[in-house]
Parts: sequence; structure tokens; C-alpha cells
Amino acid sequence: MKNIKDYTIEELKQEMIQIGEKPFRAEQIYSWLYKEKVKDFNEMTNLSLELREKLKENYNICNFKIIKKQESKDGTKKYLFDVLDSNAIETVLMSYHHGYSLCVSSQIGCKMGCKFCASTGINFIRNLSSGEIVEQLIAVEQDENIKISNIVFMGIGEPLDNYENVIKAIRIINNPKGLNIGARHISISTSGLVPKIDKLANENIPCTLSISLHATTNEKRSSMMPINNTYPIEELINSCKEYIKKTNRRISFEYALAKDSNDNLEDAKRLAKLLKGMLCHVNLIPINPIEKGIYTKSTNENIIKFRDYLNEKGIVATIRRELGSDIDAACGQLRRKNLDRRKKCC
Ligand code: SF4
Repeated sequence: MKNIKDYTIEELKQEMIQIGEKPFRAEQIYSWLYKEKVKDFNEMTNLSLELREKLKENYNICNFKIIKKQESKDGTKKYLFDVLDSNAIETVLMSYHHGYSLCVSSQIGCKMGCKFCASTGINFIRNLSSGEIVEQLIAVEQDENIKISNIVFMGIGEPLDNYENVIKAIRIINNPKGLNIGARHISISTSGLVPKIDKLANENIPCTLSISLHATTNEKRSSMMPINNTYPIEELINSCKEYIKKTNRRISFEYALAKDSNDNLEDAKRLAKLLKGMLCHVNLIPINPIEKGIYTKSTNENIIKFRDYLNEKGIVATIRRELGSDIDAACGQLRRKNLDRRKKCC
């Protein structure tokens, strides 16, 4: 059966016409789903009984179940959700002085195989539907009784590898009749799928684009991120420049610092050269070590030197505050542990 949260408001209007109803019913249903956050068609009390029955015959309302919830000392909360087909996904809620930010997953598993990521080694299973992406937000808002102000596509999965569903989810999240979160408060993070970055530049969605760069030579980047073999650094940077030219939006480059790997002054010099003159910001991330991972966190001294060098060269760089390091906060860790446990049980 179709998940009613999978539709943009325009699509839902078309659905209503197809089941013999007036298009304005879509707006009423949207209000029940995204303002009232009801879990059952029976709760949509301004719809006739006949229409509610029709909706039940044709659609379901996807409501995730919480399998596990971990809370960090710093207030970060990590959810493992049952997506109702025996799979599980992770979602992380972070609390900042400016509000709540939610890190959502876009796929079950990931094909990209980045070496520093806890999702590596977990097979790609499937894309999440747009409704399943949106449901992460609704489920957390309901569980915590809060309003989320920022969304980052930085959980499990490569969002641009699930392009259509991610864009549709953003349209639902962004719609004032949907979850009403401004596009500027939505951020997509990609490992660097160049053709999709080019496509995104032509969508009229002013969300923030983050590029997981993490290295300054093709040799190093390919060893950390196999996607670099397909779209090497030069191609990626050219695509970013084109994106900035078309959208006039600043790109955020993510750079996870790993000790003795990509954190020395030569790396900082190459990075400054690569990004010279670009409308961008560099987010330096002390790498989050994962179980059986090959990378360890850079020293504070190196991280600060790296940042200061970039700033001296006119590249705005900041160090990201580490959140949730005591609760398996690297993406994929909680799900991986859950799978390991299940494997051990079998
Ligand atoms: S870092 Fe992101 S793109 Fe890379 S393997 Fe992990 S989930 Fe996939």
C-alpha cells in the first residue's frame, strides 16, 4: 500500500482527483499529517467517514517505531528506528543554542564505502522513500515534543544517490503547509557525485550544499573515499565552482582530520590553494573513530594549526563541536551494533 507521506502537496492533489475527491482535501490531509501529526486516518475528524474509509483502502500512514534511543552527556540523542520492513535506520538529534538540528538518513546502508564511516561494511539495502525521510522528523518531534529548526542530510546513505526522493522530501519539509522548515535551514551533504551536484544547481531550492572533501590529493582521497576514482578532486571542484556561479550560494567543505593522514601543514597548503577565491566555508571535524576503523583523531594542536593556516589564507574555517562522542555518534555505529547483535543471536 502507498505511504501517504510520500507525496508533495501537488502530487496529493492529483491523488485526490484520482480517487474522485476535490483537490483541496490534500491541504486538509497535509494539516493533519504535518501540523497535528496524527497516526491514524480516523483522527482526521473534519473528513467524512466515507473519505476516511477511502483513504484507508488506498494508503497507509507510515509511523516509525523506536527500537533504541541513546542519550549523550551533551544532550545529543540518537534514535534507531524500525522502518517496518525489518530494516532499521539512524537519526540523530542535536541541540544547539539556535535550536534543534536533526541529522537524517537517506538510504538503508550505503554504496559509497568511505573508509572512515561506520556504515562501511553494511550492505546497501534500499533507498528510503521521501515519506520515510520525512517521518524521521515527525517521529523525533513527537517523541521529544519539540520543533526542529534545521535538517542535515548527513546520516546513513549518500543523499544524492537517492536524488528524487531526497528532493521530494525537501519539498515536503519546506512547504509552509508541510513541516515549514526554510530551505536555508536544510543542508545536503555529499561525498561528491558530480552529475547530481550539477543537477542540484538547476533546482530552485536554496538549501546548503556540503561536500565531504577530507583530502587534497587524488591518491589520498581515493584511499579514503572510493567515489574519488570516478569523480576526482579537479572535477569535483569545477562542479562546485559551477554550482556557486549558478546559485550564488556558499558551499561548505567538510574535512575530517585524521592523525598523520591528512592533518599536516602540507595538506592545509594544498587545501587553501584548491579553494582559493571560492565562496565557501571549511568545516574541520575531529574524526570520529569507529570500531575496527583505521583512522584516529588528530591532536588538538594540529587541528588548531590547520584552522589558523586556512584563516590566514583568507579561507573561513571553523572547528565543528564534537557531539555525542559517548553514544556511537558516527553515522552507522548504532545500526551496525544492532546488526552485530542480531547476527550473534542467530
Ligand atoms: S560517509 Fe556518507 S557517503 Fe560515505 S559511506 Fe558513510 S554514509 Fe556513505
